[in-house]
Amino acid sequence: MAADKKTTVLVTGAGGFIGHHLVTYLKNKGYWVRGVDLKFPEFSDSEAHEFEILDLRRWDNCLRATRGMDQVYALAADMGGMGFISAHHAKILHNNTLINFHTLEAARINGVTRYLYTSSACVYPEYRQKDADVVPLKEEDVYPAQPQDAYGWEKLISEHLCRHYREEYGLETRIVRFHNIFGPRGSWEGGREKAPAALCRKIAEAKLTGDPTVEIWGDGQQTRSFCHINDCLTGLYKLMQSDHHDPINLGQDCMVSIDELADIIARIAGITIIKKHIPGPEGVRGRNSDNTRLRQVLGWEPEISLEEGLTYTYRWIEQQVLQKRTGRKTELPGLACLAR
Ligand code: NAD
Repeated sequence: MAADKKTTVLVTGAGGFIGHHLVTYLKNKGYWVRGVDLKFPEFSDSEAHEFEILDLRRWDNCLRATRGMDQVYALAADMGGMGFISAHHAKILHNNTLINFHTLEAARINGVTRYLYTSSACVYPEYRQKDADVVPLKEEDVYPAQPQDAYGWEKLISEHLCRHYREEYGLETRIVRFHNIFGPRGSWEGGREKAPAALCRKIAEAKLTGDPTVEIWGDGQQTRSFCHINDCLTGLYKLMQSDHHDPINLGQDCMVSIDELADIIARIAGITIIKKHIPGPEGVRGRNSDNTRLRQVLGWEPEISLEEGLTYTYRWIEQQVLQKRTGRKTELPGLACLAR
């Protein structure tokens, strides 16, 4: 469905991984797009019609960001992989609360009609995620609440805020719970990268140096599901168009252990690795998405297999590692298909 050309959309966090891809996706659908972030995207220029550097912890900046917008996709957050979110509880709770409370209220004041909030599978209680062979999480499993980290608590309270703004002010809110989104052009080094990107980097380094040892946090038996960015964008867009206002999972429901994830990436890289298990933040023992509601509501679910998605992602990260080591920009053959 092509958008009315006059529909204006704000993407917050447009300098980040999902937001950067989303700007391109929405522009291609015919929307007029404003991107806002603390920084420009790191790996390619934004295609936003307008891109503003604004700190959304500040109320005045939120008013400025949402002015004249019909719809908001709220993605801005201080976040990262397990290493980051298990070590910065105060900062995450403080920053993300300010961002989300101010952005939502500014959207209301500026007459935004639809607002999509990006929550996380981290809202689900620890007590349901103690086994690697976990029962997939349904949306209603979130209560009684016991998220593992401050990151999850903040997401949960912002979900509530969206619900109350819809019920009391009539602002049409949508709430998505992502389960580990991965793909090219996301953080792959520096501490904020997540497991798929970190393992792609380590395996690319093993391939380039010839040292097959790859460090893995924990015993490698912890499980997750991983969803490719292209499926994430399709799901986000479909949800925004839908009438469904309760929180909904968006992820793959095909679970693998972190060791299996490393093996798949090593196969893609074409090398044999030696996995070295070291102490490190592991998060919950097991997590998987129950996609029953996603199928019911959107008549759709993620389609890209882990192997296919990782092939594109690995090739992009290998290129980044190579560039960093040699200082030369090299275009790997076939990289254009990343943007399919
Ligand atoms: P990301 O870190 O790549 O992007 C978030 C962006 O928000 C960053 O570019 C950051 O600079 C920006 N930001 C942080 N503080 C800001 C501020 N004060 N003002 C303006 N911008 C600010 O993360 P992502 O993976 O693209 O995630 C997007 C959203 O999806 C986040 O809300 C995240 O919590 C949620 N989410 C992502 C995943 C995932 O697997 N990637 C999983 C669950 C939830």
